[in-house]
Amino acid sequence: MVRTASVFDQTPVCAPERLPVARPHMPSADAILPYLERIDASRQYSNFGPLVRELENRLAERLGPDAHAVTASSGTSALVLALMALDLPRGAICALPSWTFVATAHAVLAAGLTPWFIDVDADTAMLDPQVCQTVLSRAPGKVRAIIPVCAHGAPLDVGGWAHFQSQTGVRVVVDAAAAHDSLTSAPFPMAVSLHATKSLGAGEGGYVVCPDTDFAQRIRMLSSFGFNGSREAQMIAQNAKMSEYAAAVALSAMDRWASTRLLYQQTAFKLRIALKDVPQVQFQEGWGLRWVSSVCVVRIPAGTLAPLITFLKANDIDTRQWWGEGCHASRAFAELARDHMPNTEHLAATTLGLPYCATMNDAQVSRLTGLLQQFFQDS
Ligand SMILES: *Cc1c(COP(=O)(O)O)cnc(C)c1O
Repeated sequence: MVRTASVFDQTPVCAPERLPVARPHMPSADAILPYLERIDASRQYSNFGPLVRELENRLAERLGPDAHAVTASSGTSALVLALMALDLPRGAICALPSWTFVATAHAVLAAGLTPWFIDVDADTAMLDPQVCQTVLSRAPGKVRAIIPVCAHGAPLDVGGWAHFQSQTGVRVVVDAAAAHDSLTSAPFPMAVSLHATKSLGAGEGGYVVCPDTDFAQRIRMLSSFGFNGSREAQMIAQNAKMSEYAAAVALSAMDRWASTRLLYQQTAFKLRIALKDVPQVQFQEGWGLRWVSSVCVVRIPAGTLAPLITFLKANDIDTRQWWGEGCHASRAFAELARDHMPNTEHLAATTLGLPYCATMNDAQVSRLTGLLQQFFQDS
């Protein structure tokens, strides 16, 4: 039979399935159901109901007796609330890395602060607390706050940032959006995302952890119209509360967090083992060993990024340049002040998100790693 090409038969019958770059690992409807039944019984749907309170307690407990957790409607709103709670003068300068997701810059602007983009460390892809002390002298004015970002979930140098904060008086607020797993207690607020694509998913949601009761209470008020027990607004605020339904999903995700974590580790181990003789592919320090995230982000040699993306695409494998060229290159932020960015530019040219998920099977792992071996042998 002579076949003519049509829109209906472009894929050969035995084509391998497309490998997506990320696949959320969310709890099943069965696992969420007992929590939904509790909502039916309590008839409380939002406004810091019993499920939200339970979730906040469990999130805080992980970080020790002094930690407080306040939920929010998203990771972005958690960051906005933490910045607003600093109570800085409107327009105060807030330094942030350009090497981050655009949400970090949106949050600074939404909190009424003035962003100043700075460069990250070439190795960690994160702001360095020692280096930042000298960088601040180049700012276009007095820097009042700074946002270290946990790059793709990597752990923060908590000691270094605590020292920075006490030396400089500049307030530290951490964008730990992808760092649910690597979070440890710290003397400054940290905002985490519970988006479906992050390691602990609620669909949409987020939380702030902070070390003191008053700050936690401010965040709660800021997330709820500035209310504090009465219907009078005490401060300019938002509605950024988490609903009981989102808390139901987050609680069932927490119930199985230990096993989710093992699955992420297992896939990371498989990738690391299969690529142990491909030195061109460098995983994030400790990724899958000491900490987990829902994405696999690797560094590859300069000059190989575009050809590798094309090669993998031709083999039905998706990749993602999660942070593009850095925030300062986004049209929305083009006019904002920034320092020079050599490391960010280098990271943009050498960083790639590969397919990864908790349930990646052996065939998918060997297909991906086989192609990477082939590419780097030939290049
Ligand atoms: C995901 C992410 C956010 C935003 O979190 P949302 O829950 O999607 O609002 C902010 N910053 C970084 C670094 C992120 O990765």
